[in-house]
Amino acid sequence: MAGNDCVVIPDDWQGYKLDLFCIPKHYEDDLEDIMIPSGLIDDRVERLARNICQDFGHADHLVALCVLKGGYKFFADLLDKIKQLNRNIEHSVPISIDFIRVKSYVDDQTSDEVQILGVDNLDNITGKNVLIVEDIVDTGKTMERLLKHLEQYKPKRVRVTSLLVKRTKGSTGYRPDYIGFEIPCRFVVGYALDYNEHFRDLGGVRGTRDREQDGGDS
Ligand code: 5GP
Repeated sequence: MAGNDCVVIPDDWQGYKLDLFCIPKHYEDDLEDIMIPSGLIDDRVERLARNICQDFGHADHLVALCVLKGGYKFFADLLDKIKQLNRNIEHSVPISIDFIRVKSYVDDQTSDEVQILGVDNLDNITGKNVLIVEDIVDTGKTMERLLKHLEQYKPKRVRVTSLLVKRTKGSTGYRPDYIGFEIPCRFVVGYALDYNEHFRDLGGVRGTRDREQDGGDS
């Protein structure tokens, strides 16, 4: 495996000024800076695709599981790159795709739980290699709970890729297998990441004004 090395955005990174890029008018007042331009994301996703193909090169089948909604853009771009590579390597891997929505919540009376929505049947991962594709790992709790939940379906091997991992004090220490960028502890939007369903339609990853850590809805 290529290891979970990644591009690290330092805490003192000020980002690029908004007026150097094209921003939809309706978002101009809400954004602070451009943390990661979409061109850089594209290049990084290409390399993640290569690492994943190398690791799964001899697998008989791969189930790519997209965590909605925030993961859809990363998923689509990553799968495009994987398909491109698959066309040009000797041992190509058949890939099937599936989508889940995950809501994690804390129930006062019981323990932390994860609610899986919008999937017919996870039995199709039994005995399979699974790649979970997520937009962002913050504390790591959601992913840890999702992985625990998937154990009951007895997949052969599960790997996780996340475009972003946040350096957060509340982290459980969980690290995905393939990480695009490690970012400072700021609330970010764009590239399908939202704030109350806004900003999914922005390219690149942007820092928001006055929103530290609330509002993401997967
Ligand atoms: P965790 O369980 O790792 O703390 O949280 C993961 C989830 O929180 C992500 O799937 C995402 O929905 C949400 N989240 C965490 N940080 C951000 C952020 O900076 N921006 C957005 N849009 N969502 C976030």
